This record gives sequence, C-alpha cells and structure tokens, in this order.
Amino acid sequence: MVKGTNAEQALAGEASCSRQKKQQVPSIVEEEGENGVGDVVARSGTLFELDLLDCHVCCHALTSPIFQCDNGHIACSSCCTELRNKCPACTLPIGKYRCKIMEKVVEAVIVPCPNGCTDDDEEEEGENGGGTRTGDVVKSAARSGTLLDLHLLDCPVCSNALTSSIFQCDNGHIACSSCCIEMRYKCPLCTFPIGTYRCRIMEKVVKAVIVPCPNAKYGCTKTFFYGKELIHEKECRFATFIYAL
Ligand SMILES: [Zn+2]
Ligand SMILES: [Zn+2]
Ligand SMILES: [Zn+2]
Ligand SMILES: [Zn+2]
Ligand SMILES: [Zn+2]
Repeated sequence: MVKGTNAEQALAGEASCSRQKKQQVPSIVEEEGENGVGDVVARSGTLFELDLLDCHVCCHALTSPIFQCDNGHIACSSCCTELRNKCPACTLPIGKYRCKIMEKVVEAVIVPCPNGCTDDDEEEEGENGGGTRTGDVVKSAARSGTLLDLHLLDCPVCSNALTSSIFQCDNGHIACSSCCIEMRYKCPLCTFPIGTYRCRIMEKVVKAVIVPCPNAKYGCTKTFFYGKELIHEKECRFATFIYAL
C-alpha cells in the first residue's frame, strides 16, 4: 500500500517532526544521534546475483550503453557490433534499443573488493565495474553487491515496486503492467507504444534484491525480497516506534 517513494517521504517528514518535538521525545532523539547518518541515507538493498550485471554474451561487466532485443535479451555495445546487431539468443535485431534502466542499475550497485579487502579506494572502485571478472579468486557464492537506489526498482509511473511484468518503450522508459493498461499502452513520457516488450533483465534484478525491514533502524532485523517488505511493515512490531511519534 505505501509506495517506496511515499514511504521515504513519510520517513523524511517523520524525521523533521521528531526534530521539532525534541524535548517531548528525548529517547528517539538520542537514537537519531547515535545512528547519525542512518536517518538521511536512502534505502538500499542487497543484490545477491551480480551475474545479472554482466553482459550475457561476453560475460564482462555491463557498462553503458546496454542494448536489448525485442525479446528482452541484453548485450553490451561491443557485443552488438561484433554480432552484427543480431541477438545471439533469438536472432532478432539488437543494438538499437537501449535498456536504460539497467544502465542506471549498474551505476547504482557497489560491490566489495573480490579479494575481500576493506580498502575503499575510490580508484579501485571505479575499475571494479569492468575488472571484477578478471579476479578469478572470487568465491562465486559470496558475491553480492549493494544497490544504492531502490527507487530504480519502482515503476516510474505509479511508484509501486516493480514486482510483476516490466515493460519498456523503444526509448527505454519502463512501466509496470497495470500502468501500461491504464495508459492505454502509450508511454507517458514519450507517447511511444509500451506494453509489448518486456524488460526481462529488470524483472530478474527485482527478484534478486533483498531489502531490510523499513523499521530496521528501530531494531527489526528481518529482510525481504523487494516489495514484500511493505507487506511486513504493516505487522512489524517495531513499527510502533514510528507511529508513536
Ligand atoms: Zn558483451
Ligand atoms: Zn534476443
Ligand atoms: Zn506502474
Ligand atoms: Zn517512453
Ligand atoms: Zn520489521
């Protein structure tokens, strides 16, 4: 019921409220102080299948631009060129239509050093995108990344979590299936048709992201597949801390 965006807005509002009421609720204020940034930080999730961020053809880490065929297979630009713009999975043309949402996702995921070092040297991190694959020491089971911007997993039209089929127009805008119907299969951003071509890679990404309970900062330790945490939020016993304000 509460959408990602709204939930966060609500939280943000909550934060300012509690600041105003400082004298009245000292315990909460103290907690805020301890957590420091915790309150301001955007919600993030854990992407446990980093392979989804690799080109399915050459297995290198995907970097912009990312292309997709009408069947939703994706490939990096060099693979598109090498394959003469023919999807290797289905032979449909590939290399014209971008999968822009995935380009954003790739940019919003940070991964730990494959060697397990905790040194967050920015230069190293920059190279990580293209370089992780070469480090074959990696224990594949342990590889997961952090998706910094969970809004990428929300339908840009209705702001609901993209938990069902995801469609994209030829310009790379995405929408959930119910929005496609509601907009009569016309992309609200560019009026191109939308609702025929699935963005399958994003459907997989959404299913591969785990998020903490929205009340994690109040002590709830439960985690959920993206979108499911809002169902739990209603019955979360830690929610009382928020509503008590
Ligand atoms: Zn490739
Ligand atoms: Zn294809
Ligand atoms: Zn929608
Ligand atoms: Zn569009
Ligand atoms: Zn909870």
